Amino acid sequence: MAGKFSKCLLLCCPGKLPREDMANEKYEQAVAELSKLISEKCELQGVAAAKLKQLTAELQSAVQGSDPVERIKTGFVHFKTEKFEKDPALYGELAKGQSPKFLVFACSDSRVCPSHILNFQPGEAFMVRNIANMVPPYDKTKYSGMGAAIEYAVLHLKVENILVIGHSCCGGIKGLMSIPDDGTISSEFIEPWVKICAPAKSKIKSVHSSLTFEEQCYNCEKEAVNVSLGNLLTYPFVREAAVQKSLVLKGAHYDFVKGSFELWDLDFKISQSTSA
Ligand SMILES: [Zn+2]
Repeated sequence: MAGKFSKCLLLCCPGKLPREDMANEKYEQAVAELSKLISEKCELQGVAAAKLKQLTAELQSAVQGSDPVERIKTGFVHFKTEKFEKDPALYGELAKGQSPKFLVFACSDSRVCPSHILNFQPGEAFMVRNIANMVPPYDKTKYSGMGAAIEYAVLHLKVENILVIGHSCCGGIKGLMSIPDDGTISSEFIEPWVKICAPAKSKIKSVHSSLTFEEQCYNCEKEAVNVSLGNLLTYPFVREAAVQKSLVLKGAHYDFVKGSFELWDLDFKISQSTSA
């Protein structure tokens, strides 16, 4: 690894720069300083090894980032060695079945993966991701895919919580808020889908008419979650479980600009708010 890196830098620096500015010399110097420090302070070996491993992984991902097959292979090898093989008890249990406590609705947006932001481990959350994290109303023909996921989670897995997570800068919500008043749409699937939460748009446009478009979108990201929570109650098995208190419905909004996460119950009262 070190040899290849050094060679690369040499090829990239044909010697026109002053010697003291050459990247390879800085690299050699850094390695020498590290080696000297480690030889003098043996107790730092563990820390140094961990940091070098992290650096190697970062450099590998930078090199391999443009090759999708390599990226997939590297990702799985990392998962297998760092997670799967290190926790045989967990993966042994999961091989027998799943018993998640959560059904989570989250946006397809690549920045809002619930497993990352809430640290869900395998087996903890049954997940549905779609444009703008919307739950459509009960409809056997239009939204059978969503209905199947909800039915399976509630009736078969018997999840105890349904969590709908909205997020900042949501393109789907921006699309909803951008649909002109005459209802003209220009996409085949996106706008008909996000119109599921049209009641949220109407409420925001009337209640927050003085806000900027961006501010209205931010508010709509939260209000759309409330519409989805209401839509969940159109599924008879969800309503029944909620009435029997074996199922709790919660809304949330993840703001990846501020780094905050807001959580509230179905009655729309904010019960908890955390920032990290
Ligand atoms: Zn989104």
